[in-house]
Amino acid sequence: MAKKQFKAESKRLLDLMINSIYTHKEIFLREIISNASDAIDKLYYQSLKENNTGLGREDFYIKLSVDKDNRQLTISDNGIGMTKEELESNLGTIAKSGSLAFKNENESKEEIDIIGQFGVGFYSAFMVSSNVVVITKAYGEEQAYKWESNGAEGYTITECEKDSVGTDIILTIKENTEDEKYDEFLQEYRIKGLITRYSDYIRYPIKMMVEKHRVKESDKESEKDSTEEPKQPEYETYYEEDTLNSMVPIWRKNKNELTDEDYNNFYKEKFYDFVDPAKVIHTNVEGVTTYNALLYIPAKTPMNYYTKEYEKGLQLYSSGVLIMDKCPDLLPDCFSFVRGLVDSQDLSLNISREMLQHDRQLKAIASRLEKKIKSELLEMLNVKREKYDEFFKNFGLQLKFGIYDKFGAKADLLKDLIMFYSSSEKKMVTLSEYVSRMKEEQKYIYYACGESVDKLDKQPQTELLKDKGYEILYFTDDIDEFAIRILNKFEEKEFKSASSGDLGIEESKEEKEELKKQAEDNKELFELMKEALGDKISKVELSQRLKSHPVCLTSGGDLSIEMEKVINSMPTDEKIKAEKVLEINASHPIFEALKKAFDEDKDKIKVYAELLYNQALLIEGMPVDDPVAFSNAICDLMVS
Ligand code: ADP
Ligand code: MG
Repeated sequence: MAKKQFKAESKRLLDLMINSIYTHKEIFLREIISNASDAIDKLYYQSLKENNTGLGREDFYIKLSVDKDNRQLTISDNGIGMTKEELESNLGTIAKSGSLAFKNENESKEEIDIIGQFGVGFYSAFMVSSNVVVITKAYGEEQAYKWESNGAEGYTITECEKDSVGTDIILTIKENTEDEKYDEFLQEYRIKGLITRYSDYIRYPIKMMVEKHRVKESDKESEKDSTEEPKQPEYETYYEEDTLNSMVPIWRKNKNELTDEDYNNFYKEKFYDFVDPAKVIHTNVEGVTTYNALLYIPAKTPMNYYTKEYEKGLQLYSSGVLIMDKCPDLLPDCFSFVRGLVDSQDLSLNISREMLQHDRQLKAIASRLEKKIKSELLEMLNVKREKYDEFFKNFGLQLKFGIYDKFGAKADLLKDLIMFYSSSEKKMVTLSEYVSRMKEEQKYIYYACGESVDKLDKQPQTELLKDKGYEILYFTDDIDEFAIRILNKFEEKEFKSASSGDLGIEESKEEKEELKKQAEDNKELFELMKEALGDKISKVELSQRLKSHPVCLTSGGDLSIEMEKVINSMPTDEKIKAEKVLEINASHPIFEALKKAFDEDKDKIKVYAELLYNQALLIEGMPVDDPVAFSNAICDLMVS
């Protein structure tokens, strides 16, 4: 028999195929199984067309068997098989896809879910095989044929015997090399693993004889009437056929066929979580882009969630075959906590099916998912508040970061989903709830930044606002104020920090007069204090906002003191400084002491100014510049 030669270009192409298209050798099994599934689909459609083959879906299967001694892995199907001509054209011509042609011919007739399209997958077998034999008998033919090749050198086609219609692919697995352990592709556990990973949702059963163990019969017998010492039971090995794939993907089922338990079990199994998810989102979309998506919001924050190690992404399937385990483009960063999968037939995959060719459809899916996730979260917020509170504890930080990220690109998407602790409600509230409670004359949405709710409750700067009965949002995460600055407004209301120089509260005429007069009267005192403190502060002022506390710091400029803290705590060399104003409460006894010192002993002013400034720093949660000097100054005061 004469060996037929691949054309020169084909040789190079084959070499390329085998060595550079795929990053993972293991996908050869996915490709061979996908072909088997396609071949069965074709025969199944044929049987539907002819109406007389007597074959139903349940009669079809794919079978794997391993012959370790001969290093052979065989994949058999009872699909449509190939004629001699088809063998020649489909396996002899690289990049020729019989499946694509079939799809094109049958496009309009039925919903066809054939996987093949590039005509290269078959050759991936050579990544792991030194020799490939294809024995096939086409539907409606008498003669079977054998195609054989050991790679780039060419192939032969000869007549052979085969009882039934279908195809056997016999791979002789390569010997191990120093870098590659090809042996593993003969191992039962590895094969099983590859099937569940890539081909779990192939809709025909993938069967394999698997090794099982049981107690030897003879041992059971002897146990009954034994007078001897009971001995260890002996085990024997036997083989039984198992179906390795689960076939029907849960996400393709109807929602009303599925229970919460089905969804939860699938989640825990597939995404390795121990607890049920907080929310399941199952959506089937038909239209320009058709897809099924099954998404989950975890009930707990993954250990590594807020670290660089965490990888966002959804599993991506095309016609039930896994293409990518974590496709990051399907999820915006702000929803990176969502787990789950998307299955679509409409994706244009690249030749290795490891990536997407261009991402128009992917973008369309991602943007619909984004809206869907938001609306589901909003529903949770409105209908299941306690659940949402819990969710927000887990992932609220990510939402707030999402507002700030990328110059606010997702701010609009997220603004209704964020919550802050409310000074008056004593619980987490949304911005829209805040606005709905605003007093008539209240111009701003007020917030205060600090370490904790407890500390913020005692913050001097908030006294006036509380006095007026205004609600204050407590910002306890570093990101909060940055996020809000990006938002700038919510429902036309601007945000205002309780520590900002101007609180935007209209004083009465008398109050204004009084303040002005006092400021004038004490001008020199304040100048002296400012002089003592140098450029640590921009000025000393009488406070409007303080009621019972003696002093506080407020920010004069745009940059708040909290922002200074956050930015300076970052591991960069760039340090910034907010403009700080030292505010003094005129109705506090300390003010009398200051005035007295000014009149009697101006040197004391320097000491007092330092002390008050340091106190304000401490209240603000900032370190004092010189703790020893501060402590000594207090001692001096106590003994004098
Ligand atoms: P693709 O699946 O993208 O078409 P492949 O290289 O995987 O490309 O396969 C090439 C062609 O060989 C298929 O289109 C199909 O016509 C044929 N083929 C491969 N495996 C089988 C099989 N098990 N049964 C019948 N035909 C097959
Ligand atoms: Mg294929």
